Amino acid sequence: MAKQILFSDSKPIPAIGQGTWYMGENSAQHVDEVNALRAGLDLGLTLIDTAEMYANGEAEKVVGEAISGRRDEVFLVSKVYPWNAAGQSAITACENSLKRLKTDYLDLYLLHWRGDIPLEETVSVMQHLITQGKIRRWGVSNLDYSDMQELWNVAGGRECATNQVLYHLASRGIEYDLLPWCQQQNMPLMAYCPLAQAGRLRSGLMNDPALNHLAQQKGATVAQLLLAWVIHHDGVIAIPKAGSVAHVKENAAALEIELSQEEIELMEKAFPAPGRKTPLDMV
Ligand code: NDP
Repeated sequence: MAKQILFSDSKPIPAIGQGTWYMGENSAQHVDEVNALRAGLDLGLTLIDTAEMYANGEAEKVVGEAISGRRDEVFLVSKVYPWNAAGQSAITACENSLKRLKTDYLDLYLLHWRGDIPLEETVSVMQHLITQGKIRRWGVSNLDYSDMQELWNVAGGRECATNQVLYHLASRGIEYDLLPWCQQQNMPLMAYCPLAQAGRLRSGLMNDPALNHLAQQKGATVAQLLLAWVIHHDGVIAIPKAGSVAHVKENAAALEIELSQEEIELMEKAFPAPGRKTPLDMV
């Protein structure tokens, strides 16, 4: 059975979801984007990740259209800008996201990255949004190990349901401390840019000879190997963005790819982890 993830009290969610960054930017791609997200839902990729930031709210509108009539199937995630992450600004930001998404609740609401607002204030408004029924859970994004320790010492901070961070085969710094710590807490980690933006974040990744050879042997694509590698880690969900039905089908099929220990070692030898603390990678 395909690997699944649990966010605190959620239903099990397949370990590959759908990203939406860059959706809603070009009206010529609108229909393809809506169709890709719907095809993803048909294939069981029920987690959709978006943010008020993406295309200035237009990505949330694309998602709203894609999930229309099927809200119950979806585990919907959006994010608040750091400068909106307290008090009335957070409530208004959340309400605006809900309007664009044409729904009355989010399954998960994330602090997009850490800004100047104290974590206490963000936790407090997240708790308030839960009591208002506007969000079911909250989490964070782009917080490094030391930020998480700080969050753990804030009242209510341990209710954090996830940390969404950059993670792909060619960027493995979180394996040093953040990932094992999240696993110890039983807190799922959401891996963004799992395809390194189709290799744009690491030139040579998609053309790497070892990866291409392995992909050929397994009858898979390099993109599928990258996703299978990310989700073989306990408690990690990958959220690739696909703007076409063909890509989303390919990504969904990666849920069924099993990597042997030998295959994992081969991939990791080609792209070793740093082996020391490095600052959290971000885009
Ligand atoms: P990804 O690593 O998901 O790469 C997306 C790119 O890969 C697109 O160009 C897409 O092309 C291409 N692609 C998708 N599937 C395939 C495939 N099977 N074969 C080849 N190419 C493929 O990068 P993202 O930056 O989009 O990250 C994923 C998601 O994570 C975002 O969309 C967003 O939701 C979230 N995110 C969160 C951040 C944060 O700060 N919290 C930061 C960055 C991302 P096409 O569109 O043509 O299908």
